[in-house]
Amino acid sequence: MIEIAIMIQVNGYAAHEVKAPLTPFAFERREVGENDVLIDIQFCGVCHSDIHQARDEWGRSHFPMVPGHEIVGMISRLGSKVTQFKIGDKVGVGCIVDSCRHCASCEKGLEQYCLEGMTGTYNSTARDGKSVNQGGYSNRIVVDENYVLRIPHHLPLDQVAPLLCAGITLYSPLTHWKAGPGKKVAIVGLGGLGHMGVKIAHALGAEVTVLSHSLKKQEDGKRMGAQHFYATSEPETFKKLESTFDLVINTVSAEIDWNEYLGLLKLDGVMVVVGVPTNQIPIGSFSLIAGRRSLAGSLIGGIQETQEMLNFCGKHHITCDVEVIPIQKINEAYERVVRSDVRYRFVIDMKTL
Ligand code: NAP
Ligand code: ZN
Repeated sequence: MIEIAIMIQVNGYAAHEVKAPLTPFAFERREVGENDVLIDIQFCGVCHSDIHQARDEWGRSHFPMVPGHEIVGMISRLGSKVTQFKIGDKVGVGCIVDSCRHCASCEKGLEQYCLEGMTGTYNSTARDGKSVNQGGYSNRIVVDENYVLRIPHHLPLDQVAPLLCAGITLYSPLTHWKAGPGKKVAIVGLGGLGHMGVKIAHALGAEVTVLSHSLKKQEDGKRMGAQHFYATSEPETFKKLESTFDLVINTVSAEIDWNEYLGLLKLDGVMVVVGVPTNQIPIGSFSLIAGRRSLAGSLIGGIQETQEMLNFCGKHHITCDVEVIPIQKINEAYERVVRSDVRYRFVIDMKTL
């Protein structure tokens, strides 16, 4: 018998070439395989990484590109071997849709560090080496059930969407470096990632400080759980806070003076890079050796850890502060994110497609 592949017809928005505005784009996804689920997407968050990639700021973009890796929706079809989900389940998909599944990292549930390279939700090639993966600025997506997350049913879906990237990207280093009672944690940059960092670090019991480029977001930062809020545009800040923090997480997508920030760490303190500015990081040796300080990095989080984060957020009623937009406003939203004019994550309502 000849099997006929029934491709899934999808509508979305794509960047067709570098730095071009996103416009409507119809495309096909693979048929629903035996281990796949088909998700009708309801909301998708707008991450700064979408902008970096749509503008080819990291140098490995492929077009046309449908961005979006903060996806939430409902399952509308199941492959014959799917065991973990049923039709109508509220689910999410983050930045990873596949990995090798057998390397040392995958075996530890750290698929983001897959030694063969994780398969990103978009701007990536599927593991068949041929098909192009497209992201969540679209109405449907087909994903292997092992890379699909369960959403706590009492959380509103639009406010949950950004947890799938912004939430896990902060939860992972905060828990890895043991933010908790007695620990002083600074979050640099109160954007999409940063505001999740404040909420999660606070819920973990740490004493949280926000380092923002001005004091404009101070009231919001304190409402989210920060005890302290400082403007990094004031040089006094770096003097006052010298050798203060156990953990500093930098979410800023632009250049900063790394040596100044490293000086904020106390003995054995750790500064974690999560923001991805385009240039290399210049660091003086003394910034590290004085105080036995460490500079580390962290990439999103594994599937199991992402589920743990969603459950944690469900338990602590943590969601994102979102501005829901119709998809037609996506290009305007990009401009506003770049200007730091977002409180605190744009989320696209896919009904408007
Ligand atoms: P975002 O919403 O734009 O937030 C970035 C924040 O950085 C801004 O809100 C602003 O905070 C601060 N900032 C922006 N421009 C600045 C400038 N010129 N000088 C000083 N501060 C500035 O972006 P996001 O979505 O949170 O993403 C942040 C970065 O993390 C991006 O580079 C993104 O690609 C990266 N990322 C990394 C991972 C990972 O796994 N490591 C995952 C997702 C995203 P204030 O107004 O408070 O200063
Ligand atoms: Zn992201």
